[in-house]
Amino acid sequence: MNQLQPTYETAIKCPACDKEFEITKVRSRAVKLVRQDTDFCPYYEGINPLYYEAVVCSHCGYAAHITSINALNRIEKRRIQDHITKKWTPRSFSGQRTWDKALEAFKLVLLNLNVREAVHSEIAKICMRIAWLYRYAGDNELEQCYLNHALNSYIRAYEEEDLVQSKVDPFTMLFIIGELCCRTGKTDDSLHWFSRLIKENSDPRNKGKIPGRLIETTRDRVHELRHNADKEVGG
Ligand SMILES: [Zn+2]
Repeated sequence: MNQLQPTYETAIKCPACDKEFEITKVRSRAVKLVRQDTDFCPYYEGINPLYYEAVVCSHCGYAAHITSINALNRIEKRRIQDHITKKWTPRSFSGQRTWDKALEAFKLVLLNLNVREAVHSEIAKICMRIAWLYRYAGDNELEQCYLNHALNSYIRAYEEEDLVQSKVDPFTMLFIIGELCCRTGKTDDSLHWFSRLIKENSDPRNKGKIPGRLIETTRDRVHELRHNADKEVGG
């Protein structure tokens, strides 16, 4: 019977309080991706695995993205104990998640990242996901608010962080920045960032490093933006 369930529970040890807590994972074969927006916002048939990406410790309130649960140093651990755990009411985030529960979990991750003074790329990633949740709900105002947060954090990450360690390569990040500028109404900035990516692609040192599809999509986006701008000028 259990095999038919799209989700399953598993226990992990919390890197902040060292206690075990339960998390819910989605079986990969239960995941059916239908399409993605140009900023990679995914749409699924049936269960949405995005809802389960934010992991929360029921005992201490430590929360992180599922791909970076253990990336916690001693200073960050102390900050979580002082600023999260002291105010935390123990409660579980395992089991099936509604949109509201997913949003609450992601907001806890963002709070944790701010308390930890985490890297901008990680903050940007979570802001993107919160924006997508608001997009699913049709809340344009809050989606724009979090897209702008994500944009500012990605720009700082691109300019200040050593992206060798990052999960997003610098070329995909250039694309996302261009895309976020576009989605937040900054057409000129968008063209600037997309052009940077196209320029990087023509640099022989980057040969083979940038996926052909990313460049194709970027060229399409530039073409589209210029076409729309021309239409506006022409009335
Ligand atoms: Zn904990």
